[in-house]
Amino acid sequence: MTLRDLPQIQSLLETPKMRELISRYSRPEVTQALRSILDTLRAKLRDGEVIELPDFQGIEFMSRVAQKIEQSRTLSLQPVINATGVIIHTNLGRAPLAPYAIDAMSKVASGNANLELDLASGNRGSRHTHVEQHICELTGAEAAVVVNNCAAAVLLSLMATAAGRKVIASRGELIEIGGAFRLPDVIEQSGAFLREVGTTNKTRTSDYANAIDDQTAVLLKSHTSNFKIVGFAELPKRQELSHLAQERDIILMEDLGSGVLVDLAPFGLRDEPVVRDVLRSGVDLVMFSGDKLLGGPQAGIIAGNRSVIDQLKSHPLMRAVRIDKLSLAALEATLRLYRPPFDPFQDIPVLKMISTDISELTARAERVIAGSQDDAPLTVTRVESTARVGAGAMPEQDLTSVAVTVEIEGLSAKTLHEKLRLGRKPILGRIVKDRVFLDMRSMGESDVSQVVAGLRQIATS
Ligand SMILES: *Cc1c(COP(=O)(O)O)cnc(C)c1O
Repeated sequence: MTLRDLPQIQSLLETPKMRELISRYSRPEVTQALRSILDTLRAKLRDGEVIELPDFQGIEFMSRVAQKIEQSRTLSLQPVINATGVIIHTNLGRAPLAPYAIDAMSKVASGNANLELDLASGNRGSRHTHVEQHICELTGAEAAVVVNNCAAAVLLSLMATAAGRKVIASRGELIEIGGAFRLPDVIEQSGAFLREVGTTNKTRTSDYANAIDDQTAVLLKSHTSNFKIVGFAELPKRQELSHLAQERDIILMEDLGSGVLVDLAPFGLRDEPVVRDVLRSGVDLVMFSGDKLLGGPQAGIIAGNRSVIDQLKSHPLMRAVRIDKLSLAALEATLRLYRPPFDPFQDIPVLKMISTDISELTARAERVIAGSQDDAPLTVTRVESTARVGAGAMPEQDLTSVAVTVEIEGLSAKTLHEKLRLGRKPILGRIVKDRVFLDMRSMGESDVSQVVAGLRQIATS
């Protein structure tokens, strides 16, 4: 078969089978599907592949076109099951929202809301008022403001306080988060000048002190969230830097990244500083994400000193990075879940996943096994596993967990992993030593039955 043997789209559209599809779907959709199939065939022929010509009049070709059209009708962004064991997975959309937050968001989405209206007076209000009080009460901050994400929070904070002036940061904390977020570049984009001090492993308060001059605006600390320097390493205490900043009349800022509002030490996670403690130790301004350990929607929270926050609120960039009403609704509701009568460890999915008992995860695994044990070629076994918090938080610390390994006779782990990913409801697991692991800690309770359904679908197909 050669390129010349490929039919024209126009003539294909006139065949009885394609006419039937046009009446079932629409002409543009059939045209689009045909174009995509012909393009694929053409590319293969160009590459010199030997391919067999489909019967363009036949039923098989017709169902291939129909399948293409059905595919194009589904949404690209769709729910998946996170069985990777990484609780806050950036590629999988980070924190799942609490039902209470989803409800708040959905109510605001389906109508109008008092986003920037003070209902009491009828005057224009600020969108920040809906969350500022909550953030202050939960962190001890004087004031707070919320933007689109933490990257925007860092950029805005530097722009508003240090543009045209110097920012001092330790060489041990000049982080890259991933994507295009590299702290030195962000500082440069803000219009500030970076003054590096110390070394990769050791920076002392005196290093900061010696670098301060009359051009200095900010001492910037950042949470080294995705790596850890161990051994001969030292960073100054926040209190020391705070005294220094106060003495020299400059601002001490810290990019916390994840930002956690409750102590996670009882669950073995000791490296993540609680926002309230950071502010109490004298840091003027902190920034952290809404959708990492806080467990809410994508957002960047800036909390601390009132006069600095006021500067941010009136900065021209604020409008460009402001939070939208849906995220704001979800954020307010999530923050509300940290207070009575709610219990954050029960009501916020991320914190619930971190704090779930091994016995409960074991029971979950047993339910997956019970649901799928009758399907012959399928072997599902419960194993110990280690989960991670993810999203850069606590890189060194594992959470004990429970997983099931899945094996199907005649299928490699790689093929099975792919089949799970391509199922009706995609299931994302991980491959450990040539076996597919489905970790119970990063899944929701309600995912169990869907995992069973997905496994059975593969076993019987
Ligand atoms: C994740 C992270 C960011 C970026 O947060 P986004 O909400 O993704 O914009 C910035 N700094 C640190 C230290 C982080 O861990």
